[in-house]
Amino acid sequence: MNYHVLTLFPEMIEQGLNTSILGRAREKDLITLQTINIRDFSENKHLKVDDYPYGGGAGMVMQAGPVYKAYEHVKNQIATEKPLRVIYLTPQGKVFTQAMAEEFAMEQDLVFLCGHYEGIDERVLEKIVTDNVSIGDYVLTGGELPSMVMMDAISRLVPGVLNNDVSAEIESFHDNLLEYPQYTRPEEFMGEKVPDVLLSGHHANIEKWRREQSILRTVQRRPDLLEGANLTDKEKRLMKEMLSEGV
Ligand code: SAM
Repeated sequence: MNYHVLTLFPEMIEQGLNTSILGRAREKDLITLQTINIRDFSENKHLKVDDYPYGGGAGMVMQAGPVYKAYEHVKNQIATEKPLRVIYLTPQGKVFTQAMAEEFAMEQDLVFLCGHYEGIDERVLEKIVTDNVSIGDYVLTGGELPSMVMMDAISRLVPGVLNNDVSAEIESFHDNLLEYPQYTRPEEFMGEKVPDVLLSGHHANIEKWRREQSILRTVQRRPDLLEGANLTDKEKRLMKEMLSEGV
């Protein structure tokens, strides 16, 4: 997976994706990261890349020219037969989900465009952006953190990035269910014991318990997800019982 990030703050991205699992994935070239400073494509001797909005109003708007040139610079380096996905991080986009992460993880290259100030001149967005994506219904100062959130979630799905490939498949949101609760040593903490079934060594019972806990947790915390969950008839009955008992 090759990430290309168009940004005014490349150091933020470089530092953010340099440690732990993603840092190791970069060392192994499972993912690569190229940051492109939009300011390097400024058309102004003072390296300005923003200007006042036409029609008035607060703040500054990033100009179309430098963004387009930065995009062209990247596009010319990428040899792909498929149309290149260019993701604009914006609170006006489709809200990012695990399903979208799974879809983006199938691409070879992804370009992220990070806005700042009041955003970017609409004309260049219309020319280059294929996907408008938001990370939630709130407004941040820039697209850098959202792009990092997306790259983190997508990278975990790239084969080899996680040591244990299975773990990405059974986590929260896979199958529209939240993950079951997890426990580790010691067996007792402040008087609370690990559920007996997890110490039983009986794999079928453990799987059954975990699945029920997943359903319970989703009923309790994110009932909105249940509509898309893939449940057996027995599980549907269990879920209805949980909902009617108000667990
Ligand atoms: N004026 C814009 C609006 O109301 O839609 C908001 C601009 S915001 C202050 C500056 C930049 O931060 C945006 O161009 C975008 O790249 C990024 N941004 C802010 N909130 C975001 C969110 N929830 N998801 C993704 N990107 C976001």
